Amino acid sequence: MSASLTTSRHDRPIPSRDPFVVVDGERELGPPPIDVDTARALADDGAAAADAGVETLTRWLVGLGQPWCENSLDGPLRPPEESHAAAPLALMLADWGMDVRLLGDAPERANVVATKRFGPGPLLMLNDHLDTYPSGPASRWQHCDHPYVASDHGDEIVARGTSDTRGNMAALLVAARRLLADPPRRGALQVALTVDEERNGVHGASHLLDRLRLRPDGVIVVEPTATRGAPTPEIALAVRQTGHALLDITISGVSSHIWRPDTGANPASALRRVLGRLERPDRDGHAVCVVGLSAGEAGMAQFTPLTASARIAVVGIGPHLTRGHIRDEVLAEVRAELESEAAGDLSGDVDFVAGPTFVPGTEGLTDDDPLVASIATAYQETTGEDVIRYCKPAFNDTILFRHAGLSAVTFGPGYEGWPVYDEVISRANMRLASDVVEDAARRFLDTAPAQA
Ligand SMILES: [Zn+2]
Repeated sequence: MSASLTTSRHDRPIPSRDPFVVVDGERELGPPPIDVDTARALADDGAAAADAGVETLTRWLVGLGQPWCENSLDGPLRPPEESHAAAPLALMLADWGMDVRLLGDAPERANVVATKRFGPGPLLMLNDHLDTYPSGPASRWQHCDHPYVASDHGDEIVARGTSDTRGNMAALLVAARRLLADPPRRGALQVALTVDEERNGVHGASHLLDRLRLRPDGVIVVEPTATRGAPTPEIALAVRQTGHALLDITISGVSSHIWRPDTGANPASALRRVLGRLERPDRDGHAVCVVGLSAGEAGMAQFTPLTASARIAVVGIGPHLTRGHIRDEVLAEVRAELESEAAGDLSGDVDFVAGPTFVPGTEGLTDDDPLVASIATAYQETTGEDVIRYCKPAFNDTILFRHAGLSAVTFGPGYEGWPVYDEVISRANMRLASDVVEDAARRFLDTAPAQA
């Protein structure tokens, strides 16, 4: 427990501490909300699962810390407590010989940062996240008895968090375990398991980057970049990503009796037309997706509503668009529709949903980037095929690492399909990912320059 936590640039060493205390910079926040003996027993189970291989480790990870790790983009019903997963994983990584910290801004929401220096040279971070999206009612899952108990379905494993992201985490941990067991001579490995990724990383990757100034020389985010239906094993490499936003549209009008709609101005009808305008394809590459609608009051069905509102996601946002641009664009469609209304008694407004609800996309990394080159070579050596480079149309922590100026890519075995229920991952892709990530890490640590 002696190596410094931070990296070659912007070093601000964090003192060694007991890995079972959550730390915010220099300040101890207290232990995570899980009894140390329970965490210790879980860590031993995890280590045994890792020794048995990536599939067994995925099954173990699926249930770890659930449902406390469920997190929702619009603010979860119950605040997540990823520390239920972080604490056992921290103890497991410490047993593997890494210098481990639980870092965060609350004892319930600890990020795991584990570092092992092998020699002089670059620091490579392997990143994944601890939270998942909610499972929903178990009765909606057809291919498993419970969303947090993994079951087999052909060559796939079904459970919440398989493709996003415990199956990716299993591949990451197996690769890390092999690197630690047969260490490279150069560089350092950092395993960063973050909280709050499902809500744009404020307490997770942003906390590590902005408050703690972590600056690795390269980051492989092991998150879904495979496609279901493509031949397996096959995993693509995301070198660029698009961003997203979440906004509320509210339209107010004049209520009328249903016998006399001509005496009112119906905001629900106007909202329907606004959404039709917004859902037109090809808005500068980004698109609008309606995620919630509200109008009318229970017990008032003789009358048209006073207000109508919609919550919309804007997805596919490029790197140069701002919050103001996105809001103005939506507002312009609302105004254009309301101006076309003969009644003239409608008004509308647009606001971002509270919280971290705007993220722009990233610039792409080119083939000569040492991280891209390491993965491309490792993939070619492992499979005999060229890895497909593409733009990932979704948020993950890679975007935050790229916005901090770091070299970061996404490469992982999960499917980029995000099924709401019956989420699955391919076993063959998990095995491929652990092989490629291990080999790419060795190549990067051996050849990439350190930024010191
Ligand atoms: Zn994810």
